[in-house]
Amino acid sequence: MSNRVAISRVRGGDIESAVRDSVDLAGGFAQRVAAGSRVLIKPNLCKAARRGSGFVTDAGVVEAVAKLVLEMNPASVVIAEGAMAGYDSEGYPTDDALVATGVAAVGRRLGVEVRNLNVDTWEEVEIPGALVLDRIKIAATVLESDVIISVPVLKTHLRTKVTLSLKNMNGAMPGAEKRKSHRVGLDQAIADLNSVIGPHYAIIDATVGMEGTWQIPEDSRQMGLIVAGGDPVYVDVVGAALMGIDPAQVMHLQLAAKREGKQAALSAVDVVGEDVADCRQSFRGAFDVFRSRFPQLDIVLGEGACSGCTAELVSALSYMGKAGFGEQMEGLTVVVGKPSLVDISGKAVAVGDCAKGMSDGVVHVPGCAPGDRDIIHGLCEACGTDEGLVLATMEQTREKLWADSAAVLQR
Ligand code: SF4
Repeated sequence: MSNRVAISRVRGGDIESAVRDSVDLAGGFAQRVAAGSRVLIKPNLCKAARRGSGFVTDAGVVEAVAKLVLEMNPASVVIAEGAMAGYDSEGYPTDDALVATGVAAVGRRLGVEVRNLNVDTWEEVEIPGALVLDRIKIAATVLESDVIISVPVLKTHLRTKVTLSLKNMNGAMPGAEKRKSHRVGLDQAIADLNSVIGPHYAIIDATVGMEGTWQIPEDSRQMGLIVAGGDPVYVDVVGAALMGIDPAQVMHLQLAAKREGKQAALSAVDVVGEDVADCRQSFRGAFDVFRSRFPQLDIVLGEGACSGCTAELVSALSYMGKAGFGEQMEGLTVVVGKPSLVDISGKAVAVGDCAKGMSDGVVHVPGCAPGDRDIIHGLCEACGTDEGLVLATMEQTREKLWADSAAVLQR
């Protein structure tokens, strides 16, 4: 696949021209979308949010992509999404998202079918050489497509640092099946999933991005860009760089690149159109925003700290807080990655293999990455809190989260 990735600026609000420019600059659809092929357009419509919020792919981008695909004389075109893990329920139903985002109207205007993947039929497929997901249910619409075009919106992510074209494919797992990917290690699961249903083309809606913890409007970031290319790994590298995030820190991107023998680094990409340096903004990472919510902790991110450990740590700390142990964590130091200082006084937990070798008295949680349960064990040991209560809180919270989406698979 080509390592060319194009960045185009939206001028005068003309999103369609920017999408056309970026696809043209990246080499066009001719090599990817053969006449007579069945094409799936997969936007990120994880919630019933309005256009322009940065939370969901802008309907104008979806429409422009669909028009370009229709010009290739495909056998069929479907726009499809399955809303975020655990949320095809009150507050986040996919059908509402399709309407609220304006994508249902796009389908009607263009005569293109719009589908909810959370209620699609599905097949269970094997993932050869899987890191964590040996078998996974995937919506039939996705498996039956000859060409998949991932059209995410530019966002940071609490667990995976960024959510771009690779992470966007999580919507291909129907309903509660997404829970599996969250439980076994989300970054690894994304790499596994993309090894069997990796997109053939990626177009990032970077008109408005979203940082932090996705609060509207304070976390929305005006960018005015479209990013396109025939290799989703390289497109996501550029997407991360545009948010000021080093692709080396994005574990699923590194894992997917390694599997395909690529280098997930900006230096490996042939960027055309706008210059990354001129367009880059510094997005506040979700983890940084999260860290500000636990001011009683000192979270040290050492060399090599990546989203594998930080995502699980975020989850573990959330459940410690939910279980009512926020006060007991006062003065706790948590280390991720290889720290420059190894002597830490007071209660401390070192998370992950990178952080081993700290001074005596620091609780070490081994693994790369350790799961949130292991981290909870370490946090409770260091703070002298009731691990059973935290794990019970975690189970209750997750059961509540997943109950509605589990029902979806039984329909
Ligand atoms: S131990 Fe943690 S921080 Fe180190 S590479 Fe593994 S997942 Fe990343």
